[in-house]
This record gives sequence, C-alpha cells and structure tokens, in this order.
Amino acid sequence: MILFEFKLISLLFLIIASTNGFEEYKGYKIYEIIPSSVTQSNILYKISLKNEEIDMLTLTKLPNVPARALVPPKHQQKFENDLISNGITFRLINSNVSNSIFYNNFHNFFKRATRQHILEDYYRYNEINSFLKDLAERFPERVSVKKVGDSYEGRAINAITITNGKNSLTSKNVIFIDAGIHAREWIAPSTALYIIYQLVEKFDENKHLLENYDWIVIPLVNVDGYEYTHKSQRFWRKTRKPSSAICYGTDGNRNFDFHWGEQGASSLPCQETFKGEKAFSEPETQIVRDILLSLTGRGKMYLTLHSYGNLLLYPWGYTSALPENWKDLDEVCKAGSNAIKLSTGTNYRVGSSTNVLYAAAGGSDDYALGVAKIPIAVTMELPSGGSGFDPKPSQIRKMVTEAWIGIKAMAEKVIEKY
Ligand SMILES: [Zn+2]
Repeated sequence: MILFEFKLISLLFLIIASTNGFEEYKGYKIYEIIPSSVTQSNILYKISLKNEEIDMLTLTKLPNVPARALVPPKHQQKFENDLISNGITFRLINSNVSNSIFYNNFHNFFKRATRQHILEDYYRYNEINSFLKDLAERFPERVSVKKVGDSYEGRAINAITITNGKNSLTSKNVIFIDAGIHAREWIAPSTALYIIYQLVEKFDENKHLLENYDWIVIPLVNVDGYEYTHKSQRFWRKTRKPSSAICYGTDGNRNFDFHWGEQGASSLPCQETFKGEKAFSEPETQIVRDILLSLTGRGKMYLTLHSYGNLLLYPWGYTSALPENWKDLDEVCKAGSNAIKLSTGTNYRVGSSTNVLYAAAGGSDDYALGVAKIPIAVTMELPSGGSGFDPKPSQIRKMVTEAWIGIKAMAEKVIEKY
C-alpha cells in the first residue's frame, strides 16, 4: 500500500514537473537591478542588447526604478561582473526559476478542479472562449462574439462586441481593447475578461459607458503563445510562427507597420524583440490591424493591455518626440492614474512610451494613432507579481479590480471629450 502511494505521488510529481517549462529554466536566475541614474539604465540596456540570451523582463529609463533580467546559467557570471564593474546595484530575487515554476504548476494542478471565477484563476484559451460564448448566449441583445481570424497554429481568435442594445454597430463611437499580444503577461487577459464582465454583467452600474459608445474587446490576441506558456515555456513572449530555421516567434508589438523596425526592434529572429521578416508578418497582428483600420472615424480609444510596470503609456514609441495631441493623451491617462491612486493608493506612472521606456518601433498603439487615427491610444502596463509575470491567482482580484477603476476613469474622460 505504502509502495503504491509512493508510486502514485512520484507519478503525480512527474506529471506536474513535465508541464510548463520546469526543465526549460533549470539553473536560470532572475536579477533585480536598480540603476541609480539614466546613464546606468543606458548601460544596462546596452548589456542586454549585446547578449540575446539575457531577457530583460522590465527596464525603464527612470532612475531608481528596479529592472529585472532572466539570465541563463552560462551568462550569469559575466552579467554580474558587468554590473559590478559599472557600479550598478543588483540582487538575486529568484535563484532557481525552475523550482518556482514547479511550485506554481503544483498549485495550478490542484486548483483547476475548484476554479470558479475569472477573479480566482487564469483561464486557458478554451475557457476564455467558453466565457465569451456564455455571455453571448445569455445577453444576445447586448453581446455578440465573432471569430476575427485564425492564429498561425489555427486557433480561432475571437472578439466580443458589447453594446447597450440600442442603435449600435453603425453610428456609435467605439472603445477597442486588446490583451495578450505578449504571451507571458497572464494578468492582461484576466483584466480584459474583467472589463467584459463589468460591461455585461454589471451593466446597470456601467450603462453610461455604453450610451454613445460600443466596446470591442479581444481578450487574447496571441493565443498560440499563451497556450505555449501554459504548456511549455512560462516566459515565452512572442508568437509561435517559425522565424528562422532554429527559432520561433515574432514580437507582435514590434510588428505593426508604422516606422516599422526603426528603433528598439531586433532584426535577429531569436531575439525577444524580433520585429518579424516584414511588417504584419503575423496573422495575429493582421487581425488587430484590420479592426483598428475598420474603426477609423468611430474609434476614439484603443487600449492595449500588457504587464508589467504600473504604467500608462501613450505614443510615440518610435521616437522621443510627442504626437500633436499629446495633451489629450496625457489628460486621459492621468484621469486613469489619479482614479487608481485615489482608490487604492497604487501609483501608475504616465508618459510617452519612448520617454518612460526605450524606443520600440512597430507597436500597436503607435499604429492606432498614426495610421488608424484613433486619437487616444494607450498601453497599460499592469502590476507585477511573483518574479514579474506570474502574480499568484490570489492576487488577480486586487490587480484587475484596481485596473478597472483606472480604465473606467479613462473611458469616462474619453466619452466626455469626444
Ligand atoms: Zn507586453
């Protein structure tokens, strides 16, 4: 009996360990680095550019804002030496990434059976689709769900349109939201699902947001990458189309055709920020493009959800120059950050992408403003959890309800202005 139980536990251990990149990250470490000046940030940025295997999980230009790097074993010594020789402070925040992935898998494995709500767990691709389908069935006058295309691996990508059921789908203005273009940023699709939940299930509380506006949401853009982070590599960021003979994936948020490839986007197919072999090389970015272009004139706000960093960013991402309407963009983002600050005390920084982060051409927000002429285009970097991209399921509720406060305030400002 004891032997049987032992075998069962061993089998369970193997099943859990074999999922989600337990092996992939053996010996990997996550460093937190605190550049004390813009010069030190620049040095760190250059160190990361020189070595394509160093994955900067987050890095801003702002002094004293902690950056994080995921570093494979063979580069750790050199990385530490480079930091020390430049006088840059760092500490290890995760000395065994594969172990923490194992514990997360362990937690998820037992949690699956009891999952109840979008606020309690990360939904898989199929669960997200069921969530949308259920709403469309229960609220047919106000909700429609449409497949807007297929991913590279052939998964349907769905968009939900939410209205108040009156004079919709023709003349009203539109707020368009997407999430999950970067696969590992799991809190982003969770936030999108919560926005949908608020607009549909809590219609009475939010009907002013749907009076003169329809909302379109794609809660998961990079469906292939997202499933891959659940099944194989937790920190996968890109799409899943082969990018060369040996590497996979393009950075969806460097693949849009507006100053494509100019700055902060890599031409190397194995890099995390690979821009693609051409603009819109990925079916997933083509889908977002087509919706953005269909909304020229009606589209007043485009919000793209990412993690992490507690930031509300607006164009341009390709240059440090500001767009003509930057004051409007700034005003809307500040409405969001102020509402969050007032409600929970959490700080969200506001600014143009290039001035807060590093230049990154080919982003969807730049395309929305520059080509589709949607006046308010915002990238929201949600909070971090765990080593950055893996907030515990118990943290989802706080993060997404807080984000909704900011998103609602931004939408109200947009509705007031346009
Ligand atoms: Zn992202």
